[in-house]
Amino acid sequence: MSAMSESQPASPMLIGLKRGLMHRCPNCGDGRLYMRYLKVDPECEACGHELACYPADDGPAYFTILLIGHLVVAPLLFFPWIWQASPFVVAPATLIPLALLTLLTLPRVKGAVIGALWAIRLRKAEDTPA
Ligand SMILES: [Zn+2]
Repeated sequence: MSAMSESQPASPMLIGLKRGLMHRCPNCGDGRLYMRYLKVDPECEACGHELACYPADDGPAYFTILLIGHLVVAPLLFFPWIWQASPFVVAPATLIPLALLTLLTLPRVKGAVIGALWAIRLRKAEDTPA
């Protein structure tokens, strides 16, 4: 799976980010990360690594908004047709693709966040017994 040269080992952070972006278990790179759209599989089917222990929380949503906002929305505002066309044309022509792009980006960003958390070995605190 590694495309890196054999002489220089990849850092765990790059490995975790890459595997997370590909929706793969950050520990082995073979098992799938999600059981549904954004629902993380509790345990990797390939290596048995516990995947639900990484506290991604609001990080993926934050980074997705940051990425889409800076790379798509802000440059879009420089196109004159955004300001000149009818709002009834501009709103669906921009909001629907933006919503789809955001929904496609969010699982990849969440995978990357989980991969980064795996690389720095940051896990959820153990639940205290009630
Ligand atoms: Zn695995």
